[in-house]
Amino acid sequence: GVPVLLHVIFFRSVASPPSSNFLLLGPSGAGKTAFTTLLEAKSSPATKMAHSTHTSQTSTLVSVSLPPTVPTASNRFRSVNDPSLKEATRNPIRYRLKDTPGHGKLRASQGIAELQAMSTSKDMKTKLRGVLFMVDTAALVDDATLRDTATYLHDALLVLQKRALNKGSTKRVPEVPVLVAANKQDLFTALPPGSVREKLEAEIDRIRKSKTKGLLDASMDNGLDNEEDILGNDDGEGAFSFKLLEMEVGVKVDVVGGAVKGDQEEEYGSGVRRWEEWVGQCL
Ligand code: GDP
Repeated sequence: GVPVLLHVIFFRSVASPPSSNFLLLGPSGAGKTAFTTLLEAKSSPATKMAHSTHTSQTSTLVSVSLPPTVPTASNRFRSVNDPSLKEATRNPIRYRLKDTPGHGKLRASQGIAELQAMSTSKDMKTKLRGVLFMVDTAALVDDATLRDTATYLHDALLVLQKRALNKGSTKRVPEVPVLVAANKQDLFTALPPGSVREKLEAEIDRIRKSKTKGLLDASMDNGLDNEEDILGNDDGEGAFSFKLLEMEVGVKVDVVGGAVKGDQEEEYGSGVRRWEEWVGQCL
């Protein structure tokens, strides 16, 4: 009715404009659309039904709000009695999430291209604060799925590594952190986040080794040193780990479990809460 509509209009006009952007990547079927739809529904219950479907062929940009009880980096010690919580409830922190299609054929032109554009943009309106890479933790036991997922993650991390290494010494630009959102923890076949991390690291290591070999063979001919093209920016001899990437390049990767499905029931651990907390730490 009219009061609800007025409330929405009023709410919209006082809410802080969303200026922080996050990019949502990951293979098809990981739960990206479900996650985006859930965040939209939680952000504006009155308009819940308006965007119940997203196409999977193009990117969608949604503006969502952080739950008031989720702390941000600039507001670490917010408690339930804190007056700033009241303010946050009245005027929630908003951010924008760009959902990208995960289908193999569209990755280069959509997900990776989007990452390239957003991570190098100097425009504050499109400045990238973080990347959420969603994985289906029940599907990673399948070797082909693991390989496909790790390849996509490897390519995304390489874009961020190049950005980190090429940005020149004049201006300090903060690195773009990555959250591996280990989704579908409600399924009993799901791998726990620790194994997801290990499997992805081991698979990226394999991808890196075969790439190093290819580059070595090529550099015999052209004499170029292509260490920058090797994820982790080392010679690719030792084992790859996300820790190595953080130490060598400054790009931080966290693997955190959750479930889009369990969020409303609060049945399966924390739902998407811990991912929202990660977002909060980037704000
Ligand atoms: P996308 O291709 O990454 O956008 O994936 P979708 O959002 O279309 O999700 C793929 C399927 O996984 C759908 O059937 C969702 O209902 C399901 N799904 C998403 N999140 C979860 C979850 O946390 N648990 C379970 N069991 N299923 C989920």
